[in-house]
Amino acid sequence: MESKLHLSDKLSKITGIGSKKESVFSKHGIESIQDLILFFPRTYLDLSKKIKIAEIQDSEWITIVAEILRSSIIGNYRNKRRLVVELWDGTQIALAVFFHNIDFFVKKLISGKTFIISGKPSMFQKRWQFIHPEMEILEEGKGTPLHTGRIVPIYSLSEEMRLSGISSRFIRQAIANIYSTGCLIPDPFYEEISKKNNFLHISDAIQQLHFPEHFDAIQKAERTIAFYEFLAMNIRLEKHKEKRKANGKTRDYGRGLQASQAFIQSLPFPLTASQEKVISEIQQDLINNAPMLRLLEGDVGSGKTVVALAAMILVAESGYQAALLAPTEILARQHFKTFLQLYGDHFLSVTLLIGGHQQDKEKHKQDIQLGISKIIIGTHSLLEKDISFQELGLIVIDEQHRFGVEQRHTIINKGIHTDCLLMTATPIPRSLSLSLFGEMELSILNEKPINRPTVQTLLFSKAKSQGVFNSIHKYLGLGQQVFWIYPIIEESETIDLDSAMKGYENLRGEIFPDTKICLLHGRLSALEKESVMQSFLNGYCQILVSTTVIEVGVDIANASIIVIEHPERFGLAQLHQLRGRVGRGNSAAFCILLLPENLNPLTKIRLEEFAKSNDGFLIAEMDLRLRGPGDFFGTRQHGLPNFRKANIVTHGKELLLSKEIAQSMDIKNDRRFDNWLFFEKTLTPNQNIPGEMIH
Ligand code: ADP
Ligand code: MG
Repeated sequence: MESKLHLSDKLSKITGIGSKKESVFSKHGIESIQDLILFFPRTYLDLSKKIKIAEIQDSEWITIVAEILRSSIIGNYRNKRRLVVELWDGTQIALAVFFHNIDFFVKKLISGKTFIISGKPSMFQKRWQFIHPEMEILEEGKGTPLHTGRIVPIYSLSEEMRLSGISSRFIRQAIANIYSTGCLIPDPFYEEISKKNNFLHISDAIQQLHFPEHFDAIQKAERTIAFYEFLAMNIRLEKHKEKRKANGKTRDYGRGLQASQAFIQSLPFPLTASQEKVISEIQQDLINNAPMLRLLEGDVGSGKTVVALAAMILVAESGYQAALLAPTEILARQHFKTFLQLYGDHFLSVTLLIGGHQQDKEKHKQDIQLGISKIIIGTHSLLEKDISFQELGLIVIDEQHRFGVEQRHTIINKGIHTDCLLMTATPIPRSLSLSLFGEMELSILNEKPINRPTVQTLLFSKAKSQGVFNSIHKYLGLGQQVFWIYPIIEESETIDLDSAMKGYENLRGEIFPDTKICLLHGRLSALEKESVMQSFLNGYCQILVSTTVIEVGVDIANASIIVIEHPERFGLAQLHQLRGRVGRGNSAAFCILLLPENLNPLTKIRLEEFAKSNDGFLIAEMDLRLRGPGDFFGTRQHGLPNFRKANIVTHGKELLLSKEIAQSMDIKNDRRFDNWLFFEKTLTPNQNIPGEMIH
């Protein structure tokens, strides 16, 4: 009797794995027994339905149980040497034929023994024959066979694994050996949590995933693993939160509170109820001893800027520095201007810090370093090494998805226990924000200022766009401006889309010959982009033809129409973002989707649903379901943990439950997960918990 195995044992402890295979596994990140049992199948073959040879109808995968009557090697090398095995199951004779590894199979496939056989039969000379079927000897008292006659796991294997003899069959056998030798897989949460919530014991869940008894068992096992992966993530997030909260900051924000209130009173408009709520949440965080880490989600135009300014004024009027990081110069300038308009007549010194060749840059840097400047608004240039603050109290990051995690760290670490407010205009579905920003507090602006028109979304077939052009003519005549959006820049031979270039020429030449039209796309330099944007901003340009590079945050009250070509090419959340660029002034606003011929009917329904809703969260949920979490933010920000089984779309319930449980745990004193090496591995090595902050 072999001794029991431990999760941390090397693979060579398993019967059948030698040092050569061990090193191939290791190249694929599978080093220990634990790694191997967590190497879950890619898919399954259902070989559980057994039928009689006489019942075979067509060449679908089937399984039979039959005795070997005899085997013979036929032909020579040229004449296709092959092993032909006659199988008899009491109804008919079928053949199993092998062209490769003949010597191996001759030894294994002994006449008189009964085998279970799976494969795709084909008719040959009036007999059913199987070419290289899965065959496994049926021995009495040995229980369910491993490779056929059941739901059989298929593993995802690299070329190198295959070449070194690591097949799905091999892995099945290895894992079966682990379980039969006995390996203790602890489940420290079983009694208290899993059992109560109808999950499996961790050991059973893993076993079911490799050797499921039926397909329903797979689902339940996956839910169990998903729950544990989420729990591991949430426990880590809670630990980080705990650590951050233990970092007592000592700033005294008493003085600024009044100034911040006065600022709010002085605004030319009343705050919306949700702005008020969010501002008070932020004030609480600022006054609190723990450094703030808060994500503010608010649809485009919901008024995040004044919220940020109220917080910055609170900090700056208390004598500390507050910085606002914006992704582009245009946005930085816009915020700077807004600040001056709304608070310019107070004695609070403010600095705008932008790209390389800014005038007086050295002086600005000094002002920041010496603490002369209390409010600092800037672009990526704030991240530069030689920018240091005298005492940075608060950092606000606008359009946070435009910045990477390291950039956030960089700016936060320019202060000590810096309070941090991240802002995003993309409503993030709850399940996604829990996994991406689980460590943060969440504030939501879910209403727009009342004087704002809702944007009406209209669908037109591209073939009937003349009517659209006519209406737009009228609006242009009234002094309105128009965004015209295309999904790509240039015509390409492979994708038949109207490109922004061609569209630009077309609009300029034939459709709106007397209108000033500008073109904006991703191949322009940052400087060129800014200058095109500027000419739209100051009203010189009337129609801005653009790819999606136009700024989310830019506030152009005069633009009331956005036309989107090939809307089927965009994600719904992205369409919603685009739509948010109009309707910022007081006049009626429209989003016009120009639909191509032959639009897929399902896509059309989706776009119609989109047109009906103005609820960013609802649309974000739809988008997440349609596109999956990886694509939700596009390319810049992903950082979702590499879960093995957990999927935030399908396992939303498990995610919420794991969050609740992690929050109710005594994170500091609960020792159960200290050595829970099992799930430390769930997050791949070097995996940053996204949103994880170092304070
Ligand atoms: P976003 O949330 O997209 O960043 P902004 O902060 O740029 O939105 O606000 C959009 C516009 O709405 C700005 O011109 C701002 O001054 C204005 N605004 C903000 N809050 C209110 C309010 N409560 N009532 C009316 N207008 C508001
Ligand atoms: Mg904004």
